[in-house]
Amino acid sequence: MGKYWNEEIECMPREQMKKLQDERLAAQVKHVWDNVPYYRKMMEEKGVTPDDIKSTDDLHKLPFLTKADLREAYPYGLLAKPLDECVRIHSTSGTTGKRVVAFYTQHDIDLWDDCCARAITAAGGTKSDVCHIAYGFGLFTGGAGLNGGSHKVGCLTLPMSSGNTERQIQFMQDLGSTILCCTPSYAAYIGETLKEMGLTPDDIKLKAGIFGAEPWTEEMRREIEKSLGIKAYDIYGLTETSGPGVAFECEAQHGMHINEDNFIAEIIDPDTGEVLPEGSKGELVFTSITKEAFPLLRYRTRDICILSREKCSCGRTLVKMTKPMGRSDDMLIIKGVNVFPSQIESVLLNISKATPNYQIIVDRVGTTDTFEILVEISDDMFSDTVKTIEELAKKISNDIHSILGIRAKIKLVEPKSIPRSEGKAVRVIDKRKLV
Ligand code: ADP
Ligand code: ZN
Repeated sequence: MGKYWNEEIECMPREQMKKLQDERLAAQVKHVWDNVPYYRKMMEEKGVTPDDIKSTDDLHKLPFLTKADLREAYPYGLLAKPLDECVRIHSTSGTTGKRVVAFYTQHDIDLWDDCCARAITAAGGTKSDVCHIAYGFGLFTGGAGLNGGSHKVGCLTLPMSSGNTERQIQFMQDLGSTILCCTPSYAAYIGETLKEMGLTPDDIKLKAGIFGAEPWTEEMRREIEKSLGIKAYDIYGLTETSGPGVAFECEAQHGMHINEDNFIAEIIDPDTGEVLPEGSKGELVFTSITKEAFPLLRYRTRDICILSREKCSCGRTLVKMTKPMGRSDDMLIIKGVNVFPSQIESVLLNISKATPNYQIIVDRVGTTDTFEILVEISDDMFSDTVKTIEELAKKISNDIHSILGIRAKIKLVEPKSIPRSEGKAVRVIDKRKLV
């Protein structure tokens, strides 16, 4: 097997890919119009019919779908196939509110597995690999998606799910896991645990990791690569568009290729909804052109990123997206300043005595916001004098001030005192009652 899972698609010339998208889009719009009264009504209100959508150039004429629509239409309102043709349901993690559910036919599952197989292959995976999946299994899409992809590639698959970290490491050693799939925060935790168990990366056979489902920084990538002795690849997706595998990183480790034969990506201005030119930073919008049961047209992800068609050294022609720099609704407004948790993480990762384990606590006293950050210190720092610890807190506070322009109260806490996540990390506790 070569370096691509599906070379024809992954390296398809641009014009040919556009033609494929044009045809699939026109057919998909008709399918939705015929089967989803909820969206048909939205189209009618905008005065658009399937006849108006002949190619991707007409995409902007379609109305947007939002998470609010999915909640309103819950559970069956956006279903485009009879339930007895569906074989699976998944649900979002509920990171930002009420969960939404998505439906899959067998055809949808096959396409999804295929996208994940591309990601595993791009990370160097072949049928000779032992693929250790420590994403949660269940309604969450992480476990199921990578599990399906791993089977497709023919890897020996370990459906571990998350939790019981020492046992995870024991299995890695006993069964020779070579590829680890989980959230980046859990990968970092496995790295810490490995060290605590008195082991080094040489004691395990891991060579690559496929990490996604939450934002992570380049500094965190380097940290994980070092602690586990691997190359760490990013993977992106959301339940609404099937799950992980909508986009995946290649050996260039510089942006994720979007599986454009299944998803059309647009970048819009989150305030006006206007489509922005290539290279602009804005909200990512997806249209799924192959899914049968739950085919969302122009779905607003709320993830902020940039698309690029620059030639990639890996040979793939699929458009690339940058790491989402935080969701438009992940952004905290503290004392009137926009704060993304990833900015705090970057500061901490550049200070050797601090760890990237932190929690932001925001509250409001009267009309003033309070902004506190709990930061775990490293083990060797723990026995240091009060003075050095105070100096560290001051340094963190100054660095954050220079980036954000506001001050946070820094509270240094003992190693391992902030609860660890086995799924997505809980980085923010916002106690303000703003609504
Ligand atoms: P929820 O919205 O409840 O978290 P999902 O489990 O479907 O539901 O998560 C999808 C979201 O996770 C994406 O919209 C995005 O914000 C985030 N995400 C997924 N993969 C990545 C990634 N590689 N980098 C940053 N964020 C990611
Ligand atoms: Zn590439």
